Amino acid sequence: MAETKTPGDKTLSVGSKTLSLKPRSETGTVRQSFSHGRTKSVVVEKKPKRRMPGDPPTTVEAKPAPAPAAPRPAPPAPPPPKPAPQRNPGVLLRSLTEEERSARANALADSRLREIEERRIAEEEAARRAAREKIEREEREAAEARKKAEDERRRHDEEAKKKAEQEAKKRFGDDQNNAAAAAAPAAASPAARPATATTTAAATTRTPVAATDADEDEAPRQVRRPGSPARPAPAPKVAARPGGEKRRGRLTLVTALNADDVRERSVASFRRRTQRLKGHHNDEPKERLVREVTIPEVITIQELANRMSERAVDVIRLLMKQGAMHKITDTIDADTAQLVAEELGHTVKRVAESDVEEGLFDVADDHATDTTPRSPVVTVMGHVDHGKTSLLDALRSANVVSGEAGGITQHIGAYQVNAPNGGKITFIDTPGHAAFTAMRARGAKVTDIVVLVVAADDGVMPQTVEAINHAKAAKVPMIVAINKIDKADAKPERVRTELLQHEVQVESMGGDVLDVEVSAKNKTNLDKLLETISLQAEILDLKTNPDRPAEGTVIEAKLDRGRGPVATVLVQRGTLRVGDIIIAGAEMGRVRALISDQGETITQAGPSVPVEILGFNGTPEAGDRLAVVESEARARQVTDYRAHQKREKQAARASGMRGSLEQMMSQLKTAGRKDFPLIVKADVQGSLEAIIGSLEKLGNEEVGARILHAAVGGISESDVTLAAGFNAAIIGFNVRAFKEASDSAKRDGIEIRYYNIIYDLVDDVKKAMSGMLAPTLRETMLGNAQILEVFNISKVGKIAGCRVTDGHVERGANVRLIRDNVVIHEGKLSQLKRFKDDAKEVVAGQECGMAFENYQDMRAGDVIECYRVETIQRSL
Ligand code: GDP
Ligand code: MG
Repeated sequence: MAETKTPGDKTLSVGSKTLSLKPRSETGTVRQSFSHGRTKSVVVEKKPKRRMPGDPPTTVEAKPAPAPAAPRPAPPAPPPPKPAPQRNPGVLLRSLTEEERSARANALADSRLREIEERRIAEEEAARRAAREKIEREEREAAEARKKAEDERRRHDEEAKKKAEQEAKKRFGDDQNNAAAAAAPAAASPAARPATATTTAAATTRTPVAATDADEDEAPRQVRRPGSPARPAPAPKVAARPGGEKRRGRLTLVTALNADDVRERSVASFRRRTQRLKGHHNDEPKERLVREVTIPEVITIQELANRMSERAVDVIRLLMKQGAMHKITDTIDADTAQLVAEELGHTVKRVAESDVEEGLFDVADDHATDTTPRSPVVTVMGHVDHGKTSLLDALRSANVVSGEAGGITQHIGAYQVNAPNGGKITFIDTPGHAAFTAMRARGAKVTDIVVLVVAADDGVMPQTVEAINHAKAAKVPMIVAINKIDKADAKPERVRTELLQHEVQVESMGGDVLDVEVSAKNKTNLDKLLETISLQAEILDLKTNPDRPAEGTVIEAKLDRGRGPVATVLVQRGTLRVGDIIIAGAEMGRVRALISDQGETITQAGPSVPVEILGFNGTPEAGDRLAVVESEARARQVTDYRAHQKREKQAARASGMRGSLEQMMSQLKTAGRKDFPLIVKADVQGSLEAIIGSLEKLGNEEVGARILHAAVGGISESDVTLAAGFNAAIIGFNVRAFKEASDSAKRDGIEIRYYNIIYDLVDDVKKAMSGMLAPTLRETMLGNAQILEVFNISKVGKIAGCRVTDGHVERGANVRLIRDNVVIHEGKLSQLKRFKDDAKEVVAGQECGMAFENYQDMRAGDVIECYRVETIQRSL
C-alpha cells in the first residue's frame, strides 16, 4: 500500500510540473494507485490490465468494464502469488512510465514550442499545418467512429486471446509465467509485450487505422513504440500524421465523454505523438518540398540553398552542426552539398564537369555537314635565327604588296595570306614551338601544317630537332623550308641529309616530306612555298561547316588599356558573329567587335579566319578554346565552373610551390640543389607560356628554375614584394615595371631584367643558373705590404706602419697577416691612413698606416696580404 502511495505522489508531482498534463497525470495517478494496490479490489483489476497479460487483453477488458472484468480477475489471480517480485518490477515500470511520461510531456511541450517557433518563422508551415490539422480533425472524427467499432472487435479478440493465454499459462505453469511477467515489465517489457501483441495478431496486423485505434490498448502501444521508428520510413506522412493528430483529438473528445478510456489512450498518444512530432520535424521539409537538386562539382551555399528552396542560413546552420563554418558565398564540394541536400530531404542529381561543358564542343567532325573547304592553318617552327620571323614577315609583306592597299596596320598574332592558286593560308605567328606545345598541352589543336625552317648555312640544330619531334607528336604534316639559300655558304643538300637522321625524308631523298628552298631576305621562292602548303592542304582535304555556332582557339590575349580584354582567336568551325555570346576558358563575353588581321572591323569570321575579338569580360588565356553559347546563363554556368577549377588549381599549385620550396630547402641541405626563383611578366599569354615552357626545361638535378609567378601585364609592386620574399629575380618580357615597382625593386635590391627576345631571356637564365653552379666568391689579390713598425695609439689601438711592396691596398679590403709564411690572421682592414688622413687606396712604394678589425697582435716584419673577395652577383 505504501508503494501505492509513493507512486501516486510521484505522479502527482509530475503532473504539477506541467500544467497541461495535470489532468491526465491525475487520472494516471488514480490508475496507478489502482495498479499499485496489491488488493484485488477494483483497483487491482486495472493493474493487471496494463501490466500482466501483455497488456492488450487487459486493456480491452478494462474498457468493457463489467463483463470482461469478470474473466480478468482470473488471470490476476495467478499473479497474486508473485506480487512481491512483481511489485518491484511493477513499481519500476510505473516510475518508468512516469519518467517517460514526463519526458514525453516535456518533449511534447518542446515540440509544441518548436511548432510555434516554426510558425512564427515560416508562415507557410503554419498554413500547411493548419490544413493538415483540418484533415486530421476530420480523420479524428472518422476515427472515433471506427474506434468504437474496433473496440468492440478488439474486445472479442482479446477475450479470445485472454482465454488462450490463460490456457497457455495453465499449460506452462505459473513459474514461467511469473518469471516472464517479472522480467517483462522490468527490463524486457518492450520485447515481451510485442510478443504478446503478436499473438493478438488480428489487432496488430490490422490496417494502419486499426492500429491507430488500438491505441487504447497498451499492447499496441508497446508494439507501436518499437514499430514507430519505422513509421517515418513509410514516407506518406499523411498517413502517420493524421494518426497522431487523431489520437490527440481523440483524447480530447474522449476525455469529455469517457474518462477512463481516454486516460489510457492519452499515454499512448503522448508517446506516439512525441515520436511523430520528432519524426515530423525531419520529415516535413521532405514532404513539402522534395526537390531534385542538381549539384555540380562545386556550388556556393547561396546557390545550393536556392536550388533546394531552402534558406541559406539553414544550410549554414547545418554545416555548422558538422563543425564547418561557412559564409553564404563560400563554395562547398559536391559531396558536402549532397549531404546537406539529403539531410534536408531532397534528392540529389550530381553533375560532373563533362556535364557542365557538355555540348560546348560538339563532337568530332561530321562529314555530313563538314563539306565546305577551309584554309589550312600553318605554324612556322625552327631553330632560333634560322629566319622564322623573317619568313613570316616576308610572306605577309609579299602578300600585302601583291594584295590590296591599306597594308597591315596591326599585328594580331595570326594572319591570312593569299595562296597563288586562289585559296588562303592562315599563318599563326606566335613564339615558335613552345607556344605550339603549350597549346597542344591544353588539347587545342590549331595547326594543320608545320613549316619547319632550317637555315641552309646552319643545318639541323637542337631546336630544329625539337620542332620535328613536336610536329611528329602532334601528327601534323611538315613542310621543310630551307632558308637563306641566298647565302654563299648555303648547303641545302646538307640540310636534307641531316634531316634524314631525324627521320624526316624529303622527296628528293625518297620520302614524302615536301621541301622548298627559300630566301626570306630576298623573297625567293615564297610563292612556291605557298603553293606547296596549298598542295599539302589539298592532301589533307580540310573541310568544315561554316553554318554553325563558332568554335575556335585563343591564340593570344591581352588586356588593352583602351579596348579592354582583346583576344586573338582562330575560328576553327562555324562562323563567329558580332553579338555572339562567347566563352573561352574561364571568361565569357559578348562579341562587341571583330577585327581582321588587316585591322579592319568585320561583322563575322568564318573557319580558319584569325580575328581579334573585343567584348570579353576578362582576359582568356592562349590555348583556351572558344565557344559560342546560346545564353548568358549558360555561359556563366560554364565559366563559373571553370573559374572555380582554375582557382583550385592555382591553390594547389601555390601549396605545391610551398611544398617544393620546403623540399628545395631540404634538398639544399642534403643534395645541395639550387633553385633559381623567378617571376615572369609578359605582354601576351602566348609569350608567357612559351617562356615558362622553356624555363622549366632548363636546369638539372643541381639547379633549376622555379617560376614563382607568371602573368600577363606590367611589373607591379606586388611582384617585387613577392620577389623580395623569395629573393627572386623578375623578368619582364615586352613589359616594363610600374614606377612604384621599380622604386621598391631598387630599394630592395631586386633585379628586374627586360627582354624582347625569348631566346635571349632563356639564354640569360641558363647562364645565370650555370653561374649558380660555380662558386660565387672570387678572391682577387690586391697587393702586399710589410709592417715596418707598430704604434700603439690610445683610443684607436694598434696601428701598423707599413710600406706597400706590390700592388695596392684598399680601405675595407680583406687582409691576411702572414708571419714567417704562416697565415696568423684573416680579417678586414679597419683603417687605412696615409700620413694622418684616411686613404682610400695606397699603391706600391708608399707608406701607410693600417689597423685591423678585432685584431691587435701584429708585429714589425709581418706581411699583410691584401685581397678583395668578389661576390659574383647572381644575375640573369
Ligand atoms: P628567327 O629567330 O628564326 O625568327 O630568325 P629571324 O627571322 O629573326 O632571322 C635571324 C637572322 O637571319 C636575321 O638577321 C635575318 O635577317 C636573317 N635572315 C633571315 N632570313 C634570311 C635569308 O633568307 N637570308 C639571309 N641571308 N638572312 C636571313
Ligand atoms: Mg624570330
